[in-house]
Order: sequence, then C-alpha cells, then structure tokens
Amino acid sequence: MWSLVKRRWRIVLLGLVATLLALAITQWRAAIARNRSIPDASFQIAGNLYYVGSTGVTAFLLTGPEGHVLIDGGYPETAPLIIGSIATLGFDIRDVKILLNSHAHFDHAGGLRALQEASGAELWISEGDADVVAAGGKGDRSFGPLRFLGIGRFDAPRVDRRFPDGTTIRLGPITLTAHVTGGHTPGCTSWAFPVQHGGRELLAVNICSLTPLPFMSFKDPGSYPGIRGDFERSFRRLRALDADLFLASHGSFFDLHRKRLARTAAADPVAPFIDPTGYQAFIDRADARFREKVERD
Ligand SMILES: [Zn+2]
Repeated sequence: MWSLVKRRWRIVLLGLVATLLALAITQWRAAIARNRSIPDASFQIAGNLYYVGSTGVTAFLLTGPEGHVLIDGGYPETAPLIIGSIATLGFDIRDVKILLNSHAHFDHAGGLRALQEASGAELWISEGDADVVAAGGKGDRSFGPLRFLGIGRFDAPRVDRRFPDGTTIRLGPITLTAHVTGGHTPGCTSWAFPVQHGGRELLAVNICSLTPLPFMSFKDPGSYPGIRGDFERSFRRLRALDADLFLASHGSFFDLHRKRLARTAAADPVAPFIDPTGYQAFIDRADARFREKVERD
C-alpha cells in the first residue's frame, strides 16, 4: 500500500517537472523569437558601408557600381528585416551579387536561404563551415544535447563557392579578405575590407566571434580536435590587423547601440565607429575569458 502511494507521488512529481521544463522551453523559444525580429533602423556607417541588421545580430551591406555584397543573414526571421532595410536605404536586394557569412550558426546563417532567393546572389562559405551551412545546421554539434530539440537548424541555402583562408573576393571596386578565425566554429570567418571616408582609407574588420560555447571542451574536444589551437591562432591573427572600423557579428560585441546614438550627435558621424582601441580591447577580453575556460576545463 505504502509503496503504491510512493509510486503515485513519484509520477505526480515527474509530471510536474516535465510540465515546468516544457513551459521553460516554450518561454525561452518565445524570447529568442522576439530577439530575432526586432528591427533596427538602417544607416550609413562610412562610405559604401551600411548597417542593415537587427538590434541583436548584425548584417552589413557594401555597395558598388557592379553590385553589392551582403555579410550575414541573421535568423530566419531577420531576413525580411534585412531586405526592408536595404530598400529603405534606396538599394535593391536584386543588386546584391555576393552573399557572405560570419559562421554556420542559425543566428547568422538562418536568413541566408531567403536572402539568396530574394537576391539571386552567389553564396560564398569558408571550407570549414560550408558543410554545416549547406545542411541547414544539421549535424552541427556546437549546441550539445540542445540540437535534439531542433536548436541550430535552419532552411539550407545553396552554397555556390567554398573558399580557403586568405581568399580575396572582388566585385567591381569592392575587395574583401577572408580571415578564417576558427574556434567558435571551424570556419568562423572575419571579413576585412577597405572603406573610403573623407579622403582616407579605413580598414573595416568584422570579427566573426571569439566566444567558446557552453558545450565546448578543450580537454575533450570531441568532434573539433583542433579547437584550442584555432582559438589561439584567431587571437593572434585578429590582433595583427590594423582595424579602424570595428564591426562584429553581434552588436553587443562592438557597442553598436552606444555608437549609433553617438553618431547622431557627432560632428563626424563616422567617428564613433573608428575604434581601434575598442577592437584590441575586445580581443584581449575574449582571450582572457578563453584562458579562464581552458584553466577551468
Ligand atoms: Zn555563433
């Protein structure tokens, strides 16, 4: 009798835990959905470089007479916002000839399929990330057990070109150099390109990401054996670039919100984005956090 009561209580308790877990997952997903679709006003950063992303995840448009280049697609829900931002600036999505990506995660690659369909652009992905992007995030182990909840999946775009580290991409006068700064993903790509401003050539660097994910282990790297060396090389590689315009795949990485407010009050609206000190400080902070994680591991 007593064991029957105990068993019933156990079932009730299990049911309660399952309900709470389901509720937490639903709320978490709703929060992500809200974050994905908050529009941010598009604006000119400098010269032919424009901000067309959302408040959380960035997207950059580089315009030129022979067509435009778009870096990153945001979440699946962000793609229509990016298309709207490009139109608001007076450009045509169909003039985007090349689509680029920082890395194969759903918050930066999720909108690529929709953007590719709207533009007809060629999609270039680094060799290290191309398989995961082409599979719409399937098989990506970055998200640990969360991948079984469908986290990390997105509509697969068509990958037109796979490129190695150091590749230069040209479209008319636009030139971009791919610095593969692996670690966050094996093919994480930081894009460097010159932008003209007031008779000066500024070097823009869009940092992919230097964040180790919670499920990553350096001691037991599993499916990504070179992860530690990749992170270390990425810090060195990015430090060696003389970046003037500091950009990144998330607005919070380079203080986008504060800088965009500062530009409206500044005599030169480009000035807040010229931030070589902030660029180096970001790498230093990421490096310190990485070393802490390696020690704790
Ligand atoms: Zn990521």
